[in-house]
Amino acid sequence: MPPRVMLAVKPAIQEEWRAALAAASDRAGVPIDLGLPGDAEPEAVRYLVYGAAGRLDDLTPFTGLKLVQCIWAGVEKVLANPTLPDFAPLARMVEPGLTEGMTDYVVTHVMRLHMDLDRRLAGPEDRWMDWFPPLSRNRRVGVLGLGELGRDAARALAALRFDVAGWSRSPKSVEGVRCLHGDDGLDALLRRSEILVGLLPSTPATENLLDAAALAKLPRGAMIVNAGRGELIDDAALLSALDAGHVAQATLDVFREEPLPAGHSYRTHPRVTVTPHVASATRPETAAETVIAQIARMEAGEAPLHVVDRTRGY
Ligand code: NAP
Repeated sequence: MPPRVMLAVKPAIQEEWRAALAAASDRAGVPIDLGLPGDAEPEAVRYLVYGAAGRLDDLTPFTGLKLVQCIWAGVEKVLANPTLPDFAPLARMVEPGLTEGMTDYVVTHVMRLHMDLDRRLAGPEDRWMDWFPPLSRNRRVGVLGLGELGRDAARALAALRFDVAGWSRSPKSVEGVRCLHGDDGLDALLRRSEILVGLLPSTPATENLLDAAALAKLPRGAMIVNAGRGELIDDAALLSALDAGHVAQATLDVFREEPLPAGHSYRTHPRVTVTPHVASATRPETAAETVIAQIARMEAGEAPLHVVDRTRGY
């Protein structure tokens, strides 16, 4: 009997996911019995493919689960669900579509800030500015978070010749990237980063990491691209640093409250660019391969990949 898999995601993406899972299961020769929320016998479901914004909040009837596979990389909302079973592992999404999309976003905005593109495109009076950006080899970029997304973005920036450093909790090695970790590493990374990229998860340890003291360590005129989570930034401290000109520009994709409230200062601040949590998204076509590979591993008695450490929160 193929294992029962339940797909619980937003209705808007359900059909694309259903088709992608069916195709990936055929391609891999890993049969699954695919169901949707509301089907009978929830206790028979072994694998839950789960988006927090799906139609299913109460997970208590799923007593036979072997894995909860989140469809997103950020799992803080799933972890906050009090009915999340503790007898089955929770895996976060790692898939090439999500990673490549994030690198596209990061490279785009780092390049935009590096080239001062907003000002250059602003109008004819700026067309003959007597200013050229430094070469990328002379621009120091710092990437907070060297996980699946941070590593790929840091590698891509290094390939464009930026002088890249990255920071993580544990020591890392990424070719072409100066890898730092721990408190001393953070201090060094902040002090050197003319462009700072945030790709950290939202956890108790990362909340308000970029507070007034941390922002003050950045070189004057530093620019920020945050695509990790809004909780990383102390918003009042960032607005003060922007007002003072210490931080010259912030491009923000993620916020404590989403959608960002209409009257929020970020929306009108002349030094802030807001994008509405669109930096990247899981692509069902490629992500379905990840899900089917997880199922194949577990059905063969192997441990799943990308399991969330619930104490650390990512
Ligand atoms: P990941 O593979 O789990 O990597 C997380 C990275 O952050 C790791 O390098 C980890 O260090 C580091 N880290 C975590 N806590 C830390 C701490 N306290 N101090 C220092 N470093 C710490 O996650 P990912 O797949 O790269 O995704 C990162 C985040 O991006 C997600 O959690 C999500 O919030 C966000 N995201 C945003 C979008 C968007 O559209 N804006 C899309 C997808 C994801 P170690 O390597 O030492 O563990």
